[in-house]
Amino acid sequence: MVRHKNAREIEGLRAAGDLVGRTLAEVARHVAVGVTTLELDRVAEAFVRAHGAEPAFKGYRVGRNVFPATLCTSVNDQVVHGIPDDRPLEDGDLVSCDCGVVLDGFYGDSAFTFAVGTLSEENRKLCVSTYEALLKGVEAARIGNRIGDIGHAVQSHCEADGFGVVRDLVGHGIGRSLHEEPSVPNFGRAGSGRKMKDGLVICIEPMINLGTDRVITGSDGWTIRAADGTPSAHYEHMVAIRKGGTDVLTTFKYIEDVLGSAPYQEPKPHTTSTERREPIANHPV
Ligand code: MG
Ligand code: MG
Repeated sequence: MVRHKNAREIEGLRAAGDLVGRTLAEVARHVAVGVTTLELDRVAEAFVRAHGAEPAFKGYRVGRNVFPATLCTSVNDQVVHGIPDDRPLEDGDLVSCDCGVVLDGFYGDSAFTFAVGTLSEENRKLCVSTYEALLKGVEAARIGNRIGDIGHAVQSHCEADGFGVVRDLVGHGIGRSLHEEPSVPNFGRAGSGRKMKDGLVICIEPMINLGTDRVITGSDGWTIRAADGTPSAHYEHMVAIRKGGTDVLTTFKYIEDVLGSAPYQEPKPHTTSTERREPIANHPV
């Protein structure tokens, strides 16, 4: 069941989303050659707890597997759900840091892929394409559009750039639970799926591989890797669909302050489209 949020709940989610943005900025201060992802995780956990929140991923259970950390740190061919470890980051690595918090009962969830040292040109293009796809997904998330419009926007952008769009993992609704309905795939047909209504809050999170779109799960039960071993990028925003225009509840502005430049453009809220589409068959998820 999809639970639409009222204005008060959206403010709670915004506060949680803002804290995730500030936590990822604190992580950004520490990303460097020779630093371990375990060190980044300690920075994130201390920051989250110092701001009156709890890590949302630590203790998260899927079957018998319990996630042990505050961040998912996914390096190079790791797509998502990487477990922080003691391997020092190397020049040219990509590290996706995905952070979830729960603040006053509301969840926040956002991810950013950091460059360690100097990236190869193809890895830089992968990050830019994935980030742009997130912005296009956010742009498509609006009243009157359908969930399939988001996936279509992401997929068409990254496939035009020659990259693999991961199918096996999807974005999601969020609220007083970390993962709520609906699923928000990064692929799909325009005009398909559930119509977005006022108060829908979703996480849009393109997971894009340099090579194949196929992924495999590691023996730790968590780490998802590109099946062909090529690098992967991941960015995530939480957005609230509102009558007055879509509201982005997470932000990368703190990260960009730390990085010393704005390598990417922040998504801008837009006014709601009055365009209406005819309903068609539900999108397969
Ligand atoms: Mg996330
Ligand atoms: Mg998420």
